[in-house]
Formats: sequence, C-alpha cells, structure tokens
Amino acid sequence: MDINITAIERSIQLFAGPVIVIFGVMVAMWALSSGANSESKMVANIARGIWDMARWPLLAACVGGVVWFLWRAWQLYRWETGALDGGCMNCAGTMSHRSGKHGDYSVCNMCGSKREGHH
Ligand SMILES: [Zn+2]
Repeated sequence: MDINITAIERSIQLFAGPVIVIFGVMVAMWALSSGANSESKMVANIARGIWDMARWPLLAACVGGVVWFLWRAWQLYRWETGALDGGCMNCAGTMSHRSGKHGDYSVCNMCGSKREGHH
C-alpha cells in the first residue's frame, strides 16, 4: 500500500484550523442544547441564557469555519492543477507570513519551506 505521508501532512496543516473551528462550534451547540434540556432548572436557564447570547456568534463562527475550509480546499485544488501562483520558490504554494526571533519570514502552506521576509 502506498500512502503519501506528505499529502496527509499537508491536508492536516491546511484543514486543521477550519476543522477545529467547526468542531468547536458543534461541541458548544451540543453542550448548550443538552444543558437546555437538563432536568435541573438552573442549568437549563443558564444554558438558554448563554444560547441567547451566543447563537449568532456561534453561527457566524460556523459559517466562517465552513468558508475557511472551502477557501483552503479551493486553494489546494488550484495548487494541484498548477493554477495557483504563490510565493513559494519550491512549489508555488501560498505563503503564511510569520514573525520570528530573526525577523519576518514566510512559511509555505503546501510544502513547509521557509523564506526570509514576506512574499
Ligand atoms: Zn512550497
């Protein structure tokens, strides 16, 4: 069996952020809805109160996570088909801009190669 570890690592790197956001929203919604149906009136009231305040931010976070996920998937698709023209010298992937001890640098989202400065 031939497993492409690099592609798996790349997928994790690309999709971990959005997946964590979407998963976090799901866990929060599950916790609030099971709290709202709690037999303890106090817990149910608190959960409903939090839900009233948090439903729109939660919904926004969920939509944001999905959009982020689709954006990353779109980038990956374009990169795989060669249409993406990113700053990476290695593979033309998109670069993330970071700041480190030795100044600004960029990390490739696709292959992980680093370069000095922002590209
Ligand atoms: Zn690269």
